[in-house]
Amino acid sequence: MNNIILTGDRPTGRLHVGHYVGSLRRRVELQNSGNFDKIFIMIADAQALTDNADNPEKVRSNILQVALDYLSAGLDPAKSTLFIQSLVPELTELSFYYMNLVTVSRLQRNPTVKAEIQMRNFETSIPVGFFTYPISQAADITAFKATVVPVGEDQMPMLEQCQEIVRKFNATYGETLVEPKILLPENQACLRLPGTDGKAKMSKSLGNCIYLSETEEDLKTKVMSMYTDPNHINVSDPGQIEGNTVFTYLDCFSRPEHFAEYAPDYSCLDEMKDHYKRGGLGDVKVKKFLIKVLNEELSPIRARRAEWEAKLPEVCEILKEGSRIAHETAAQTLSEVRAAMKIDYFSKENGLV
Ligand code: ATP
Ligand code: MG
Repeated sequence: MNNIILTGDRPTGRLHVGHYVGSLRRRVELQNSGNFDKIFIMIADAQALTDNADNPEKVRSNILQVALDYLSAGLDPAKSTLFIQSLVPELTELSFYYMNLVTVSRLQRNPTVKAEIQMRNFETSIPVGFFTYPISQAADITAFKATVVPVGEDQMPMLEQCQEIVRKFNATYGETLVEPKILLPENQACLRLPGTDGKAKMSKSLGNCIYLSETEEDLKTKVMSMYTDPNHINVSDPGQIEGNTVFTYLDCFSRPEHFAEYAPDYSCLDEMKDHYKRGGLGDVKVKKFLIKVLNEELSPIRARRAEWEAKLPEVCEILKEGSRIAHETAAQTLSEVRAAMKIDYFSKENGLV
């Protein structure tokens, strides 16, 4: 069996460091590992429209932004197919057939759908398209016969629902679809990076993000105003690590060599944490260290972004060609699905006469 990756992002804003540690960094590693036969990275514009139908310009304008984030993070169009969801209409048809395999109550039980409905204050006015987006995500994944889906923890219920759809489809119509595996970040802190405000999840929709394209100046301002331990008032006070966003970010980003270079008083993060817990280490010092660590990670990304920003027509070409390839691939799967369902009425195998 081939090793195939499918994953993506909604073009509802620029990508942030939560996307980076939750999925993007891993994608680049997997891409460069050479262990995958095909890698599909999707800009989920159709899905973004399910809760932004009244603001199509937001979705449209962020397509290029997300593409720039991909390229600057190190996704390489020679190795990964970058494409736009709505340019692959087969995904819509697959969703339409999969809808018959899922009940309304199963969708209502999906914890991520539940949480996102609440976050968006939809209450009784949930757009049907939004409500059914786990089904369209199953179409996205299966259209490319993805075996591995590298995503953050919030996507676990989506993957479970996709696996159920695959099993139901194969049991009903015969072995056709491939069951994907979720690939979560190994580092616990990266499963769901909190926002700079300490809120549960950094999210484009919550305005608590540090963007991959953040300037050094803005990065500094954001880190300096980050949520820490509200009871750690004087430097000498003992501080708390749990729920302290600055330390969570250090868990995700710091490496032993950063200490030698930027904080030689400590040999590793645990030593720094111990000092903070004992008292005597101020927030400002820890934040300044985090700024250096983040800048080290983001500098090459910023530099690559500047290069790609100077050649936007080339970025468009990459998306156009990627979407063409994705369209071809999904069309093949759709024809297999139609054959399995015997709705290919004029074919040699399943023709009506
Ligand atoms: P929106 O608010 O529009 O839903 P989002 O910020 O949640 O945007 P998505 O495009 O929904 O971003 O998610 C893209 C990918 O990034 C998914 O794999 C998701 O799991 C991952 N991801 C998003 N936010 C985080 C985070 N804070 N920590 C870890 N992974 C994240
Ligand atoms: Mg999301």
